Amino acid sequence: MKDRNKIKELLASGEQDIDVHIKGWVRTKRGNKNIAFINVNDGSTIHNIQVVAEVASFDAELMKKITTGACIAVSGKLVESLGKGQAVEIQAREITLYGEADPEKYPLQKKGHSLEFLREIAHLRFRTNTFGAVFRIRHSLSFAIHKFFNDKGFVYLHTPIITGSDAEGAGEMFRVTTLDMQDPPRTDRGEIDYRQDFFGKETKLTVSGQLEGELGALALGEIYTFGPTFRAENSNTPRHLAEFWMIEPEMTFYDNDDNMDLAEEFVKYLVRYALEHNADDLAFLQKMYDEELLDRLRFILEDDFVRTTYTDAIEILSASGQKFEFPVKWGADLQAEHERYLVEKHFKKPVILTDYPKDIKAFYMKQNDDGKTVRAMDVLFPRIGEIIGGSQREEDHDKLYRRIQELNIPEKDLWWYLETRVFGSAPHSGFGLGFERLVLFVTGMANIRDVIPFPRTPKNAEF
Ligand code: ATP
Ligand code: MN
Repeated sequence: MKDRNKIKELLASGEQDIDVHIKGWVRTKRGNKNIAFINVNDGSTIHNIQVVAEVASFDAELMKKITTGACIAVSGKLVESLGKGQAVEIQAREITLYGEADPEKYPLQKKGHSLEFLREIAHLRFRTNTFGAVFRIRHSLSFAIHKFFNDKGFVYLHTPIITGSDAEGAGEMFRVTTLDMQDPPRTDRGEIDYRQDFFGKETKLTVSGQLEGELGALALGEIYTFGPTFRAENSNTPRHLAEFWMIEPEMTFYDNDDNMDLAEEFVKYLVRYALEHNADDLAFLQKMYDEELLDRLRFILEDDFVRTTYTDAIEILSASGQKFEFPVKWGADLQAEHERYLVEKHFKKPVILTDYPKDIKAFYMKQNDDGKTVRAMDVLFPRIGEIIGGSQREEDHDKLYRRIQELNIPEKDLWWYLETRVFGSAPHSGFGLGFERLVLFVTGMANIRDVIPFPRTPKNAEF
């Protein structure tokens, strides 16, 4: 493949009068009986390159088959373009057709399909400008995440996808089994006998890699996970998926302030990375979907995030005079409408809320001396609401053990976790960033189904 030129590189090279060889998909073809203008995209950039072909020099059958969606290779000369809209174009010498796309049948023959329709043809939607841009940005953010942590000396830890622990506590879980669901083996008491299942016990898909991440951090110092997580939540919202990717750093010797500093530095780094590396794709998305996109991204970078407590937030919301669908009450979880009010209307800055009531947070969070709250921290963004959830972890064995008993969590599910608080326990903290929430924010798309290649949502797993 040495001689193939990527369109992105050709457009950036500033070179002219050189021989080039491109391969890609036809976006449009126009012209007349003498000359054809073929716009080709190869996925390397949002921009197409214009191929100019003298119709008489090419086989008529071939020219007829060069239609929107067809895949071709073109050899020719890169020359200055006299037309508007591009600096250079390719004068075609040779065109090879790899795959045609019957205009009568190709679903993307016309532009302007709705995002809902494109979700139904997820196998082809990659070929639109929108999804090209979204998935290039998604890639770029993934790479930036690894770069950020690698540069800081964090260890990338792969935590299990299948888990035997029922105590991750972050949501409803999907079961993993090889038992015959028509006729499962039963115990004497008539219950399904999971001892005969593949792992000899009940297993589920993980909802979070955190508990295992902590085990790694308590030896490696600082780790992060970046992997798929699964939640069987029947919430059909534009911010929830049943399968989503999560980044979970876990840091020994960090208190909750260090944790917040890292979270803020991390999301700012990622937003800045996208602004610097995905300018063309962001400009396209801003033009097509969201004229405030770039302003909103810069808004993240401008100021320090506001840090305040859950209790203060409840007072602000109660005094706001704003009508909310869900009531504001100390002890109740905040909904996206409350979180967005705080960020967009009250503080006009990203917000980190701390010290939530212990009853609405997970068992492992460090207990405050007031006996009512825990050292949690949630990062709230405009449009999205919660983008990060984290906390300092309870490192005191007895306090942790008592909380596990209060919540009736079976000790058999967590003996290994408790043991890290028996041997060489240490203060530590961590957080989880929902990757698709980040991509949603950075691309300005409105629905989380449009920022993951193959969305898994209730009643939807076609591809
Ligand atoms: P929410 O209240 O929005 O459902 P959560 O409190 O359940 O979030 P956590 O358990 O703290 O979320 O998970 C950490 C992060 O993972 C969240 O801050 C969010 O960015 C993301 N997240 C959680 N659930 C989902 C989901 N179903 N789909 C996509 N991202 C999610
Ligand atoms: Mn949730």
